[in-house]
Amino acid sequence: MDHSRPDGHVTDSMSRGGSAGVPADQATVRRSNLALVLRHVSACGPCTRSAVAAATGLNKATVTSLVSELQARGLVKETGPQHAGSVGRPGVALVLDGSRVGALGMEVNVDYIAAIATDLAGRVIVDRRIGFDAMGSGPERSLDELARMAEMIVDDLDRLGVTPAGITVAVPGLIDTTGTVVVAPNLGWRGVAVAERLSHANIAGHIPITVDNDANLAALAEYTSGVAAGTSDLVYLTGEVGVGGGVISGGRLLGGADGFAGEVGHVMVDASGELCRCGRVGCWETKVGLAALVRMATPDRAYGMGPQIVRDPEERLAEIEQRRAEGDPRVDVAVAEVGRWLGIGTAMLVNLFNPRVIVLGGYFARLADLLIPAAQQTLACLGMSSAVERCRFAASDLGFGAASRGAAGVVVERALYDPTSVKILTPSAIGMIEGTPMA
Ligand SMILES: [Zn+2]
Repeated sequence: MDHSRPDGHVTDSMSRGGSAGVPADQATVRRSNLALVLRHVSACGPCTRSAVAAATGLNKATVTSLVSELQARGLVKETGPQHAGSVGRPGVALVLDGSRVGALGMEVNVDYIAAIATDLAGRVIVDRRIGFDAMGSGPERSLDELARMAEMIVDDLDRLGVTPAGITVAVPGLIDTTGTVVVAPNLGWRGVAVAERLSHANIAGHIPITVDNDANLAALAEYTSGVAAGTSDLVYLTGEVGVGGGVISGGRLLGGADGFAGEVGHVMVDASGELCRCGRVGCWETKVGLAALVRMATPDRAYGMGPQIVRDPEERLAEIEQRRAEGDPRVDVAVAEVGRWLGIGTAMLVNLFNPRVIVLGGYFARLADLLIPAAQQTLACLGMSSAVERCRFAASDLGFGAASRGAAGVVVERALYDPTSVKILTPSAIGMIEGTPMA
């Protein structure tokens, strides 16, 4: 998987050097070796220092030094003795330390702000979502709210003894490499420096902040821990007010030249269709986005109608399901129409990317039992048969937290590939580092 692209958005310098007092070239070697040892312990632990040395080809004294630094950064810890074989003294085993360093993933979307904090093993520590009118509030107030939530969660983590290694924010739009939102049509944002703005928030310790597209991050979450985990060719679709796509192809997230790939919601599917928030006409999301479903199923509750009460998407879905249970015929008609258009758009994606699984996220997942039959039928008619036959729809079980989950995963990946991006928590544990280059 391409880990370099999400990492490219770090605002806080990652080039501070591996260890205090170590010349730059040696720091680079040491940083690389720290990552090698950490990833081995993460993948193969519990394992002894000797086993790490044997597996990595590093000598044992070097491994001992590297492990001391990883312990000081709160990334590995010792556990009970482990017998390396039938003979010899048992060694103390090393495991990933899940208790002291965490990852914070956040998402700002049209009608909510969400956050998930995990430990380094991906276990969820905090899972929060609030209804918030990001579209109506504008970028300033939205980012104030995002910063406020980040500060609260970082404080909560601090009370639990967990230091976040970083924060990654998911935004439904095009994001450049500085963490600036170039354009987010459904938020009405253009040129909003999200990472820069959050770097000025009162978040303890100037935690590195990166920003990425929500669908890309959700696709990464699905690839690593979702219903289609490990499927090297999958397409994830965000079922929100906006519809985005994250494409995993050959086990790598497809980014494109500028990282803007996957804007499937703004592919034109109906030349005589409705005006889209992006300014064009007949985009796919005007047919299948949550706003389209709400408009057809519960027109009195359409976005932009009546007093602006912020409604969490789950509330809107509960209302749609309730009206369906009451026998309102508009709901089934609306769902069938959305399902049909879902199939039309998916046929293009299947022809383009030949995925094994189309993972339906957001509201698509909640209504998957109703949407998939109609979508599958249309897909079977419009897709290239040989590609369609081996492709299935799957409903995400990560809910509206998929992008936040993926965002936290990016922070974990960065820590595993550059342990020096994680602060030293107990400097006394690495007394050997100052002025003593040990690669
Ligand atoms: Zn559009």
